[in-house]
Parts: sequence; structure tokens; C-alpha cells
Amino acid sequence: MSMETTAGQTPPTRRSLFTDAVHAGREDLAGLGLHAPPLDLSTTYPSYDSRAEAARIDAFATTGERPDGPPVYARLDNPTTARFETALARLEGTGSAVAFASGMAALTACLLVRNSAGLRHVVAVRPLYGCSDHLLTAGLLGNEVTWVDPAGIADAIRPDTGLVMVETPANPTLAELDLAAVAHACGEVPLLADNTFATPVLQRPAERGARIVLHSATKYLGGHGDVLGGVVACDEEFARKLRQVRFATGGVLHPLAGYLLLRGLSTLPVRMRAASATAAELADRLAADPRVARVHYPKLGGAMVAFEVLGDPHEVIAGVRLITPAVSLGSVDTLIQHPASISHRIVGEGDRHASGVGDRLLRMSVGLEDAEDLWADLDRALSSARPAAAGERPRTRPAPGAGAASGRAGR
Ligand SMILES: *Cc1c(COP(=O)(O)O)cnc(C)c1O
Repeated sequence: MSMETTAGQTPPTRRSLFTDAVHAGREDLAGLGLHAPPLDLSTTYPSYDSRAEAARIDAFATTGERPDGPPVYARLDNPTTARFETALARLEGTGSAVAFASGMAALTACLLVRNSAGLRHVVAVRPLYGCSDHLLTAGLLGNEVTWVDPAGIADAIRPDTGLVMVETPANPTLAELDLAAVAHACGEVPLLADNTFATPVLQRPAERGARIVLHSATKYLGGHGDVLGGVVACDEEFARKLRQVRFATGGVLHPLAGYLLLRGLSTLPVRMRAASATAAELADRLAADPRVARVHYPKLGGAMVAFEVLGDPHEVIAGVRLITPAVSLGSVDTLIQHPASISHRIVGEGDRHASGVGDRLLRMSVGLEDAEDLWADLDRALSSARPAAAGERPRTRPAPGAGAASGRAGR
């Protein structure tokens, strides 16, 4: 059963993403006499008919299909979260979506689906988000990973390869990959593309051949820095396996988080458009600034800017006043952090450097503030950073596999 049935209606013919963002997952509301979506916080669902409940539990356990009617227990399904899943699937152009307690819970479920089929080998391209890298490298779920450049994907695939995993634009270097070429190199092996940075507003990986589209919903989908969540957009066949794993391992999204994420989606296109315009402007100014060695800004656009400073990056972090010095991204306010100290700290130094995550790299998530106010803050923070001592000048060689993210590529 496809996710669209949640809303009780067939989805309309192709509409703009801006329109879908405010209507998907809500089509049945007017018929229910409601405007805002109902928030169902139930952990359990009463029924006087335990024979029917038994049949519904059996059906879910064997198929992973969303339960028909009340979910029995909140670990199986939730109607509020299902609205968010319906909406996100629509925006990503996939048949289904399955939501989790965090981006990492979502990635864990994808790996467990493949591991349980005996396919524990993963082919991956660095850089990935630091904890995704760690989950694969540390073998916490029993995975073995082969790290490759995009050109090496096809040769790295083995009979026990369960997934190929990429991020584009990648966290934190904003390196971009040609998703269609990568998907082609994967052959029959599912490609998992982390679309957290681009969001479906800028890129729909399923249209380029990715079978699994992962989001840390904590970031742009929620958009206000107040909800932790993850979601996988995929076909219904993979979604059923994910629901079975979610039921058994318990990484469910809280319904209040589902409510907030659905609300976040409604402003996603306008937030992305506004923040991207400001980010592009700041990327231009940084690229022209003598205190900055190199700027990474994706050809695709987006609200993330990474830049390497000549001075001490820790002093830049200490010097911001309007911009918030914090990890995470995708909120309405601008955040800045030092990947080598925080988001990618958990990745070994050698692997970090080899994938272009240098010690002078700063990653900024541009929000909805005025560009001039942001620039004034950055300008002051850059000035407060003492220049590096002689001989300490950072090397600015392009990172291996960093592709188009060199210099002001694409701007
Ligand atoms: C933050 C992030 C994750 C992890 O998501 P959480 O919601 O923090 O668990 C995964 N991928 C990318 C690209 C991220 O930025």
C-alpha cells in the first residue's frame, strides 16, 4: 500500500515543489473539518477485537506494510508521523518514506536491512558526515567498508556488497558528485545518497538513480533547530523492510517531532531559496577576502559555505557574535563550526586530511538573517583571528575526490 493512501486520496498530477511542500500529507484535512494536522500522541491503541489485532500484527510482521487502521502500538506506526513521511516522499519523488528518531537511526536501519540479508560490505566515498563515517569504520553493526574515489566504485563492488553510500554536496567540504554516473557504477547494488545538504529543493537523488535517499531531518527539513529526526525516502519494497527493522529496533520518530517536521517542510522551499541567496553572496565575499585561503561553495547552490582561513580558525569561532558557534546546520539562524574539532572529530586525522577536511576549514550554515549583518559579524571575526605564523601557511591543494568544490568553482 503506498504512502499516499494515508491522506485517503490519490495524489494529484505533478505540481510544483512549493505547492507540494504546503499540501502534501494534508490533502484529507479539509474533509475532516480540520486545518492544522492532528497530533496523535498515543502510545497504544485500544481494541475489543484481539483476533483482528492478531491478524494485523501478523500482517505487519510478515510484510512491513503500514497497518490498516490504528497502529496497535506506537512502535509500529503513527498517523502524525505518517503525514510527514507522505509529504517527504512526495517532495523526493519516491513511493514511500520511513521516519526515524535521528539521521543516525535512519542510516542504522538501512545498514541493518542489508546486513540481515548477509550483505555487510559497504562501498563509500569520503567525506561523509563524521558519525556516518564512524558507524561504518568502527564496524559497530558488523559492516566492512571499502573507501573509494567515485571512479573506483564499480571495481570495489563484491558479491556481498549491500550498499554504496555517498553524500553530495558532502559534509563538510561540499564536494559534489555526479549522482547519475555514481548510480550507473553501482549496477544492481542500491545507491544510498545522503541528501541532507541539498534537500529535495535543490536535488532529487531518486531521479538520478539513487534507490535510497537519506536525510538528517534535524537539519533543513525541521529547519528551526528544535527537532531531532531522520528519514529515508525510497521505494515501497525497501520501506517495508525499514518498517520491520524500525519496529524491532525501536528507533521511531516521536509524533511531536513528526508534527514539527511536517510543519518544517511547508517552508522548506522558501527557506532554502532565501538562505541560498545569502550563502552565495557570502561565498563571493569570502572568496575575494585576503584573510581566506579557499572557499567551497557547491555548483548546485545551497545554504552551506565552507572556507579555509589563513588565521587561527579557533579565533574565528571565538570571535562571532551574531552567528552562533555551534555544530549542526539547517536552522533559521546562521551557525559556524570547526569540523576538525567537532563534526568530524571522530574521524581519524589521516582520513580527515586525505578527504579534504583540513585543520583550517570552517563550515557555516547560513540562515535567514540579513546578508550585511552576517558579513559584518564574519568580517569582525576574521579580523580577530591572528594570522598564522610564518611557515604555518596552510596548503591549499585540492582534496582528492573534492571534485568541483575547488576554489569558487561554479560561482
Ligand atoms: C547531521 C547529519 C547526519 C546525522 O543526523 P542526526 O539527525 O544528527 O542523527 C547524517 N548526515 C548528514 C549529512 C548530517 O549532516
